[in-house]
Amino acid sequence: MSAEEEVMRIQKKLNKMTGSDGSGQEQALDLLKELQTLDINLDVLTKTRIGMTVNALRKSSTDDEVISLAKTLIKNWKKFLSGSNNSNNSKETSTSSKSLKRDKEEKSRDDKEREKDRKLPSQFPPPNSGTTDAIRLKCREMLVAALSMDAPEEFEGCASPEDLAEELEEAIFQEFKNTDMRYKNRVRSRIANLKDAKNPTLRTNFRIGAITASRLAVMTAEEMANDEVKQLREKFAKEAINDAQLATVQGTKTDLLKCGKCKKRNCTYNQIQTRSADEPMTTFVLCNECGNRWKFC
Ligand SMILES: [Zn+2]
Repeated sequence: MSAEEEVMRIQKKLNKMTGSDGSGQEQALDLLKELQTLDINLDVLTKTRIGMTVNALRKSSTDDEVISLAKTLIKNWKKFLSGSNNSNNSKETSTSSKSLKRDKEEKSRDDKEREKDRKLPSQFPPPNSGTTDAIRLKCREMLVAALSMDAPEEFEGCASPEDLAEELEEAIFQEFKNTDMRYKNRVRSRIANLKDAKNPTLRTNFRIGAITASRLAVMTAEEMANDEVKQLREKFAKEAINDAQLATVQGTKTDLLKCGKCKKRNCTYNQIQTRSADEPMTTFVLCNECGNRWKFC
């Protein structure tokens, strides 16, 4: 089989993977490793457009190793396309002067680079999010329960009760730096208000991101029970009514809602009457930053 045929065979398999939901990452890694060993020249690159395939895989993959190796491959091919790769000193199968085989020095540099890439994601979970403190974990658990009172489909795509509970507990803990009575009272009062059947707007506002964890962490009982919360809701409802009147296809941009995935406030929403006219409208939200979609009633 020629290099071109080999590449196309691998490409076919990779194409099946991109777009699918992160499954088969191990096979993807094997395929990329196989690509790495092939003698890919400019001709093969142009004919197969394998660079595009690998790039698409890199974008859709959630596996650190796959992403990193895909990056390395693309980087090498780019270098190659720009004509700066003149290393022709490989002893084995080098057939063309445009061989991709790299010398040892270059290889170790790539390895280092790859290692650097791999370390990146570890910066992401906030440094304090993982706690083993039994009291803190119990508090998070109770907050999750308080936040999980609604039907899950009502907040599809919003931040999960687990994430929100963790964020809220973390914010409270950061204020007291311990789990004494004041900390416990603060957590308890949040739970009571989030569970309050007479005050569902607080829970809704927190779940859709209209009230942040750091704000909710310090709100007084009066603030939680009343005006501010309702006003937020009203403000949002008013904006929604204006939107309905305009009936734009594109929806309305808002910074009142926070994306549960990327935590940014750059969303577009549409409200649609999904059931009978006297029932509340369903709001469909699209995050303009990361494309996350969710809905709530
Ligand atoms: Zn987002």
